[in-house]
Amino acid sequence: MTDLITPSTMQDFPLTIQHLFGHGRTVHADSRVVTYTGETIREATFAQVAERADRLAGALARLGIRPGDRVGTFLWNNQEHMEAYLAIPCMGAVLHTLNIRLFPEQLAYVINHGHDRVLLVDASIAPLLARVRDQLTTVEHIIVVGEGDTSGLGDILDYESLLAAESEGFDYPEINEREAAAMCFTSGTTGHPKGVAYSHRSIWLHSASTTSAQTIAINQGDRLLVIVPMFHVMAWGMPYAGWWTGADLIMPAQFLQAAPLADLIARTKPTFTGAVPTILNDILHNAADADLSSLREIVCGGSAVPRSLMVAFDQTFGVRVTQAWGMTETSPLAAIASVPRGTAPEDELDWRARTGRVLPGVEIRICDDAGAVLPWDGQAQGEIEIRGPWITASYYLDDAPEKFHDGWLRTGDVGSIEPNGFLQISDRAKDVIKSGGEWISSVDLENELMGHPAVREAAVVGVPDEKWDERPMACIVAAEGTDPDPAELRDYLAGRVAKWWLPERWTFVDEVPKTSVGKFDKKVLRARYAADELTVVEI
Ligand code: AMP
Repeated sequence: MTDLITPSTMQDFPLTIQHLFGHGRTVHADSRVVTYTGETIREATFAQVAERADRLAGALARLGIRPGDRVGTFLWNNQEHMEAYLAIPCMGAVLHTLNIRLFPEQLAYVINHGHDRVLLVDASIAPLLARVRDQLTTVEHIIVVGEGDTSGLGDILDYESLLAAESEGFDYPEINEREAAAMCFTSGTTGHPKGVAYSHRSIWLHSASTTSAQTIAINQGDRLLVIVPMFHVMAWGMPYAGWWTGADLIMPAQFLQAAPLADLIARTKPTFTGAVPTILNDILHNAADADLSSLREIVCGGSAVPRSLMVAFDQTFGVRVTQAWGMTETSPLAAIASVPRGTAPEDELDWRARTGRVLPGVEIRICDDAGAVLPWDGQAQGEIEIRGPWITASYYLDDAPEKFHDGWLRTGDVGSIEPNGFLQISDRAKDVIKSGGEWISSVDLENELMGHPAVREAAVVGVPDEKWDERPMACIVAAEGTDPDPAELRDYLAGRVAKWWLPERWTFVDEVPKTSVGKFDKKVLRARYAADELTVVEI
């Protein structure tokens, strides 16, 4: 009798970035990495970029970098950053992408905590790093890319000279797919940022997922405009997926405002991009005459995407915006708002405006405060938990047991799930507004308010209230040339949300404070309110 349980006969092929690297450089040798300089555009083929990545690996090895060592990048999205994306993980080291917008003390913390031995730094932002140079305890070498003021960095090495000194090719070591390939820290609005280390395997699987037609279908016909910073959750997976499939990679460097982006789009004709709502809002308000017709789709996430923004993109530019959800801990893509089959065209927007449908490959559930699993009925609200091969299982050197529940990651997002797997986020757990014991969704209020023509941005926060414990306060940024009246905005909301959700407190601000990755920083708004720094109208 034969054994009923037999080992698989398939090859134990390691899922590493080395495979992605090798595939892109050979099969797609002619695809391009395009970098914007604000005026000109420089291009290199994948073959050329790969050859330079080999030299970078050689230079780093010569500086003493060995498998497992961390190499930090303090760079914009550009060709050199792509070279680092390829060289560092493939030589077995760990690519630590540093958020250039962190406060100095957080920046020093993540570099020290990550034990970065070498840093690659863009000369244009060298002064930001110079501010913390004397606090860095693990950094042995700083390699500077480009020209600029590098005073305050101490001894530096020049990127191009290092590459020029190396010869062609590099002998890459064998790598275990479960080793760390890259590391990102969460934006850490409270306390220290937490590190998430992606394995080769998780990046491989996440990249494969992003090439699926069921998700964002990245493919060789694409020209990907990589707006999301390469230090923010690996630019949502685009650099690796693009390299693997042979899509051209268009890098905007530091030119992320509406006008230069519109210029770059007109000149390079990307087919696909991803961005947070703040960037899309900027394009809508400051470059409404831009020609975006080359884009087949824009994926938008990182915070809730107002329905009005999607409609405006449809109408103004004829471009479809698709909402996605994820986080640093989820690599990030975990849900995408793809319209269920059979939906009538007039109902499509109702699905597109939701947070997203769980991706094949990951599993989600919602749990109540006691940890009991709640039904997928579109009604029950609970904390979203997630698990899967590209979801973090722990934080770097930080147990954080409160973030995990029976092998699932607790996302800190609160929402409901429809029977067909569509997720609707109503709030971050820490931003939830509880009025008289009932939840009010700040996300829903914001989305509705941002649909009003006189509202450029709206953030809603919970503030203490004697009678109800907490009530929503609306913080409004008026659209240019308008002066909206709170009573009018309240009337506008009245037909759209439950009556008891309507905010009594209104404040007008020049700008909603943002975190280092461009999200509304509600903590700052609550603190300003508590310190009596806001002019609040009560109605
Ligand atoms: P980060 O780790 O900085 O990418 O932030 C992840 C967080 O962004 C999530 O936990 C959500 O709170 C928020 N987020 C991302 N995408 C969405 C979305 N489509 N709707 C609402 N919130 C989102």
